[in-house]
Amino acid sequence: MNTAILQENPTVRQVSRVIKGMPATDGAGVELTRVIGQPALPMLDPFLLLDAFRSDRPEDYLAGFPPHPHRGFETVTYLLAGRMRHRDNAGHEGVIAPGGIQWMTAGRGIVHSEMPEQENGLLEGFQLWVNLPAAHKMDHPGYQEYPAEQIPVESREGGIDVRVIAGATSQGTRGPVVQPLTEPLYLDVRIPAGGEFTERLPVNHNAFVYVIQGPVMARDAGGRAVQLGRDDLGVLARGNTVRVEAGNAEARFLVVAGRPLNEPVARGGPFVMNTRAEIQQAFEDYGQGRF
Ligand code: MN
Repeated sequence: MNTAILQENPTVRQVSRVIKGMPATDGAGVELTRVIGQPALPMLDPFLLLDAFRSDRPEDYLAGFPPHPHRGFETVTYLLAGRMRHRDNAGHEGVIAPGGIQWMTAGRGIVHSEMPEQENGLLEGFQLWVNLPAAHKMDHPGYQEYPAEQIPVESREGGIDVRVIAGATSQGTRGPVVQPLTEPLYLDVRIPAGGEFTERLPVNHNAFVYVIQGPVMARDAGGRAVQLGRDDLGVLARGNTVRVEAGNAEARFLVVAGRPLNEPVARGGPFVMNTRAEIQQAFEDYGQGRF
């Protein structure tokens, strides 16, 4: 991209909607907040679901997610605090620790468990579901797993830190996760009080900001100031630049963007395909032990 042209013609993405998560229970009784994948925001193509979890009450998370299947998309787990152990039916196993990412491509099918590797203390993080295009839903499963030490942190002027999990920034920092099918950008950004963060985004990608620590200031479609508080998701309208500011305290937020697939979506619990028939096939295959 020609950055000189971009600087001359920034089209700042306004916040088109502010979404509040809704309380949900999943797995064997894990209390979480569903942000994408709920009535207010059923999906933001290619993002099918975003769950946020943050609790220091063991009863909220101890039950975990015992073995369950997935097919047709990717599950992305990013931990801020605590530890989660993952095991699957192909013998893959690992622990996600704070600052670590697990980008799992379920593809044609996997059966896995996701269990807290702790009996008390804070467990905090996110799970994002990223869709796969029809032509790749039945690909072989795969993992991209990186501990915190392998995720680059871009330090910018003004005390801004950008952890680059997936995609690349305009300053050239490249995250370890690669997914050419949806070209995701996944950033964890900290800006000091009064600071401003600007980053370019592909103009046609869907994008959102999720506030971990706020407030974060942005603009709506009418140019009015919008304040996003902790746990608010701001859907970003089309444009080539995201620009947000911190208030009078340090702010931390995720910036996530991806190329929309514009394909029909059929959901059935842990399966996301293109048609109902494919969902029925997934249930049948799982029931017959073909995962
Ligand atoms: Mn799962």
